[in-house]
Amino acid sequence: MDILEGNPILQGVRQMLGAFAKSAVRPVAAKHDAEESMPWELMKQAQMLGMSQTSLVETPDAMKAMDGGGAGKDGKPRPSLKSQVACVGAEELAWGCAGITLALGGSGLAAAPVARMGTPEQKKLFTDCLKGTDDKGRVKVAAMALSEPSTGSDISSLATTARKDGDHYIITGMKQWITNGQSASVYVVWAQTDPALGRAGVRGFVVPRGTPGLVPGRKEVKLGIRASETAQVHFEECRVPREWLLGGDEGAKEGLAGTKKMLDATRPIVAVQAVGIARAAFEYLLERVQGGTYAGTPLAGHQHIGFALAEMEMEIQASRLLAWRSAWMADQKMENVKWASIAKAHGARTAMDVTTRVLQLLGEEAMQPGHPVEKWYRDAKIYDIFEGTGQIQRRIIAKELTGVNPV
Ligand SMILES: Cc1cc2nc3c(=O)[nH]c(=O)nc-3n(C[C@H](O)[C@H](O)[C@H](O)COP(=O)(O)OP(=O)(O)OC[C@H]3O[C@@H](n4cnc5c(N)ncnc54)[C@H](O)[C@@H]3O)c2cc1C
Repeated sequence: MDILEGNPILQGVRQMLGAFAKSAVRPVAAKHDAEESMPWELMKQAQMLGMSQTSLVETPDAMKAMDGGGAGKDGKPRPSLKSQVACVGAEELAWGCAGITLALGGSGLAAAPVARMGTPEQKKLFTDCLKGTDDKGRVKVAAMALSEPSTGSDISSLATTARKDGDHYIITGMKQWITNGQSASVYVVWAQTDPALGRAGVRGFVVPRGTPGLVPGRKEVKLGIRASETAQVHFEECRVPREWLLGGDEGAKEGLAGTKKMLDATRPIVAVQAVGIARAAFEYLLERVQGGTYAGTPLAGHQHIGFALAEMEMEIQASRLLAWRSAWMADQKMENVKWASIAKAHGARTAMDVTTRVLQLLGEEAMQPGHPVEKWYRDAKIYDIFEGTGQIQRRIIAKELTGVNPV
């Protein structure tokens, strides 16, 4: 199955974002990686090209054709293309730079639960917070604050609490490893509203920047994807109106299950970013092999190189198809939990495997700081950690296969 075949929308997205990645993303990737800085200027350009920070919540006019609904020329209902568009675009951007891709699209992590569970008023609050520019004249971004110093994978044991106080909640706790955590104009924060309810008590809140008690914290120094900001966020007796409780009282029915569902929608996109990194490293090696010689024979004629290239091509193609399949299922509104986890785990493994092989074959030149392969090697590892670690994906797949949660 090739989702691009006969699909001018997806082909157009690939062409446009591929050109943007080549002409605008790649040239500044090393600089933002070395400086550990967000690409604010590029984010402005991307916004002008229609890459909105809020597209998951409100569909921009340019994206309406991808939204599904209505009838096509043949009179049949048009299926949505949103996840597939995000997937095809994310591979191109991550080929340019995975850190910059996350800077451009990191708000989507917060937008996904708002789109899924938010009331119309909360959607408006969220999108209003992202209009215009911030006090430094930068594109406004959002953050999704779930992880904590002692809670990453096991999201049901959050220490952050939201205590009811009349018509308000008081949020207290600390969040860590939060994408856009320092600069966000709006946060979606997850907290335990009632410990007696366990997992069902974990609820989200939409909290605008500037709310007293919401204090952006220290920025983290990271191995990879360094153009994306990751930081702590503190909630110090942060008092919020109950209207900011995601989904309102009705949303309690979904609770944490809603959070997990949104990961099924974002995992294919994360998976295909890993494919973009792998493809970047693979193409770098392929180009080198085609021009060079070793011990008097063309590099391409050496079996150990040819076989390594074949292995890498097999892995990249398989990972991409898995990501596309799980995105296609999301667009068809099919249950994709197993496939999203397969795609995420496979994509991460491919990125680590391919970047390691390429580094190995190039030798010491690729170990130098500032060498593109050295950067792709560092960027790849994070894909096996965030949005559910490799082990967590395997737990999900095993549970889907056997019905039993491995201990
Ligand atoms: C760059 C980056 C950006 C991030 N952005 C965000 C963000 O925007 N918002 C947010 O909320 N979080 C974010 N995170 C946090 C990320 O989601 C967590 O790091 C991730 O969920 C893993 O949690 P942890 O690091 O606490 O590891 P832990 O959950 O403590 O896991 C440690 C190890 O134990 C393993 N493990 C844990 N539980 C099990 C189990 N049941 N079975 C088998 N093995 C297990 C894990 O696989 C891992 O190897 C980000 C992280 C990074 C690195």
